[in-house]
Amino acid sequence: MSDRDWQAIRADFPLLSRTVNGKPLRYFDTANTSQKPAAVIEATDDFYRQHNANVSRAVHTLGSEATEAYEDARKAIAAFIGVPANTLILTSGTTFGINLVAYAWALPRLTAGDRILVTRMEHHANIVPWQLIAERTGARIEVVDLLPDGSLDLAGLYAAMNDTVKLLALTHVSNVLGTVNPVQAICREARKHGITTLVDGSQALPHMPVNVAALGCDFYVATGHKLCGPTGTGVLWGRKELLDAMPPFIGGGEMIKEVRFEGTIFNDVPAKFEAGTPNIAGHVGLGAAVRYLSGIGMAEIQARESELLAYATEQLAKIDGLRIFGTAPDKAAIISFAVEGAHAHDLATLLDLEGIAVRSGQHCAHPLMQFLGVSATCRASIAFYNTHEDIDALAAAIIKVRKLLQ
Ligand code: PMP
Repeated sequence: MSDRDWQAIRADFPLLSRTVNGKPLRYFDTANTSQKPAAVIEATDDFYRQHNANVSRAVHTLGSEATEAYEDARKAIAAFIGVPANTLILTSGTTFGINLVAYAWALPRLTAGDRILVTRMEHHANIVPWQLIAERTGARIEVVDLLPDGSLDLAGLYAAMNDTVKLLALTHVSNVLGTVNPVQAICREARKHGITTLVDGSQALPHMPVNVAALGCDFYVATGHKLCGPTGTGVLWGRKELLDAMPPFIGGGEMIKEVRFEGTIFNDVPAKFEAGTPNIAGHVGLGAAVRYLSGIGMAEIQARESELLAYATEQLAKIDGLRIFGTAPDKAAIISFAVEGAHAHDLATLLDLEGIAVRSGQHCAHPLMQFLGVSATCRASIAFYNTHEDIDALAAAIIKVRKLLQ
């Protein structure tokens, strides 16, 4: 695709044409949440204007239209990640998906002496639920470390695997370093030891084609709002036999077949895990998002972003006193950096005055910050809707702000 095609794609995102502090907005915070194309905004708007009703309940026309729209979205999202729709649970996001697996899969199964492996690059959402489960079951959490370039210590990971490990919870792509983990090879190895695997795909789905079935994991979770979809949306995929064997996490309407005070018969997967009224419009929007992304092509997006990443890395590396964290050979378009003499929050605040949105802080990854030996970083995360001009503006603004701070 030519630069002009990408400019046209950028124009699909209404918010990207606004100004911030009198400057054109340069949005580098997609890893936090992505911007939304008009197709997504229109799909949710159309749902509320034309089809709004609750799902799976009413026989009237709007009720069936809403149910059809919601189930069509499930099919589109399932196809996008290469899994059958009847194994895809729609959630409020990654955090909910991981907690569902923690309470419905891990809690009833783990006992004292079992081990849970997590990596040092996990988001808190893939650490804290396991700590809560470990406290209640007596299982032990072990941490797989990183190499200096921010890639996973695979030798250490494989050495830690044996049949006392019941679960490996790891991220597909680091939200701080951009490191892409070789999930397929890792899951193959885990399987040999009978280890169940949960992969956090929050930062992977937005950046590359992902065929979850081919990865060989047992659970895959992701969030919709980083994938051009609305907030409060997400997915949990699980192997059917695991999902069938798991008790429900949350009880209520829709997740039952029959309720009697003597006992309740639960619905089939995925309804068993979707108690109560779901985020219907949100998932209709997420369905529109994955159709939109498929229309561009995830392989095209990946190629574009890797070109922008290379360009941005080159431009930022030229800046005196700027240090980039995470130089793994397989890296998604996320650049964490620090500038000598400038606190990350001050830097981000001054960059905002230039119209530039970067995130500063610990990125919900305290253990990783400790590993990096810093209290905070700035993070510029790049999406296919960013341009070379955005990157030039970012580099120029960092140079300007650095001078101001010195
Ligand atoms: N995991 C990773 C790798 C993330 O980047 C995020 C979002 N920052 C989450 C989990 C949590 O996602 P959510 O807040 O949408 O549940």
